[in-house]
Amino acid sequence: MKISDFKVKPNSKIDLSKFRTAGSGKNKSKEDAKKLLKKNVDKMIVLQDKLFAEDKYSILIIFQAMDAAGKDGTIKHVMSGLNPQGTQVTSFKQPSSEELNHHYLWRVNKALPERGRIGIFNRSYYEEVLVVRVHNLQDTEKIPAKLIDKDIWQTRFREINDFERNLFENGTIILKFFLNLSKDEQKRRFLERIDTPSKNWKFSDSDLKEREYWNEYQKCFAEAISSTSKDYAPWFIIPADIKWFARLAVSSVIIDTMEKLNLKYPELNNLQKENLKLYRDKLENN
Ligand code: ATP
Ligand code: MG
Repeated sequence: MKISDFKVKPNSKIDLSKFRTAGSGKNKSKEDAKKLLKKNVDKMIVLQDKLFAEDKYSILIIFQAMDAAGKDGTIKHVMSGLNPQGTQVTSFKQPSSEELNHHYLWRVNKALPERGRIGIFNRSYYEEVLVVRVHNLQDTEKIPAKLIDKDIWQTRFREINDFERNLFENGTIILKFFLNLSKDEQKRRFLERIDTPSKNWKFSDSDLKEREYWNEYQKCFAEAISSTSKDYAPWFIIPADIKWFARLAVSSVIIDTMEKLNLKYPELNNLQKENLKLYRDKLENN
């Protein structure tokens, strides 16, 4: 699995139809993949511990996708076993009336991970250039009408880039995953939700409505990803038709990124080390 295969190069104009939705499962069985994922999870546990101890960087992981692409399952599996104190998942739904009374990044700012923590966004401010664009919701967002012009999406891409660069320059590492699902596989998963009683709760008729806008979404995703994949906040397009492949790919990207941070447990200075010796003697004699 080569991480560079998934990464969208800055300033490239992508065409989503050219990207695979099924990862090549060459030489791998589901069981092998599970073992590899377990190995990755173990690695991540150590890296997270160092991230937390060092308390300098924070990591923001964004998931965007069409319905049923597996955001929830990926988050659950990739993050399993991590120290819950160091992670936080935020799901972004339709904005409340209070949220609509603020800048669209207001609710995002409140949800950003603290230093030393991993923050996961299940959907994000990218909805502002996806669902909002597909359904023309900008007119309901209480923005002064004269600020909504034909360039609004370009303006939002710029705002998002500025926002992410600002975060990066202050120690937040940003990783953005688009789980790339095929329309056929989405159909199969929806049918499964209808046919399996324990999955019925996952089915929502609004998902079916959004499916009718598949092509519009693909176009908006392609433009958003092309315009906002940067060295400081790269997008990764992950083939999502095979769940184990997607999970393994996502965890590999996260580990690769964290390893490059060269995270270390804080070291004590000489005076502090001397003091430790004194404390030890004190404890021994007590
Ligand atoms: P699930 O897997 O549980 O269905 P979900 O992420 O689809 O997860 P839902 O509650 O079904 O969660 O859907 C949330 C909805 O909120 C999505 O349709 C999404 O497009 C919408 N949404 C998120 N952010 C915004 C936004 N800024 N403006 C408008 N709609 C938004
Ligand atoms: Mg949903």
